Amino acid sequence: MSRESLIRRPAVPTLRIMMPSRKINRDVTHHHRRARRSHNRAGALPAADPQWEARATKRVLIGGLLIAIVLILIKLQPPRKPHPRGIVLHHTATAGKVGGNLVTVSVIDAWHARRGFSKEYDGVIYHIGYHYVIRSDGVIEPGRPEGCRGAHATKGNDCIGICLVGNFTKEAVGKMEPSKPTREQMQALRKLIEELVDRYHFGPENIHTHRQVDGDTRCPGERFPVNQVKAWVKEMEEKRH
Ligand SMILES: [Zn+2]
Repeated sequence: MSRESLIRRPAVPTLRIMMPSRKINRDVTHHHRRARRSHNRAGALPAADPQWEARATKRVLIGGLLIAIVLILIKLQPPRKPHPRGIVLHHTATAGKVGGNLVTVSVIDAWHARRGFSKEYDGVIYHIGYHYVIRSDGVIEPGRPEGCRGAHATKGNDCIGICLVGNFTKEAVGKMEPSKPTREQMQALRKLIEELVDRYHFGPENIHTHRQVDGDTRCPGERFPVNQVKAWVKEMEEKRH
């Protein structure tokens, strides 16, 4: 039996049953012939029809392309970083210089390595528990990345930890300098706080001292002007609205 007869046989009787009048039948017969021809192309032997194949290939390609675009977009999205709850302010409770050298991030990093504050983030190990250090000369040094959970306050490690080098307790006056934040440190702190407020939209209620969150410490000392810092943030908040 030829391939042609195999194809035609099932289509003809089905259509005849459906046609009520002779005229319609004639029209339909004509239509039917065309339909049969197109049926041969589109229905019975789809794989043999180059147009059908081209359309199918096009659909598969478009589908594949869309899936690839979605996968690329998912891959391109940066990993979700935890949103810090606020800022916790600290002092080092040391002088600005120890052994004649400025207390810097690398000095604090070594202290915190000994205290076991180390944490791996994006393949790098950070020992320093603070996110930023402001040296007594006013230079801001980054500690661990903002997306990395802090190790600076038992109840405030979901906040960004900023540490000013110095000892701001009243006992330090005349014994350990700086015993209150230097002008350079305050200018640097304001700049840093402005950046963080812009990034995270913190309000004054998100600014804490270490003492306020943990209670069992005097950090950052009575001479640290926390109200001044909150006033800056309030000012920034008002400007934003
Ligand atoms: Zn502290």
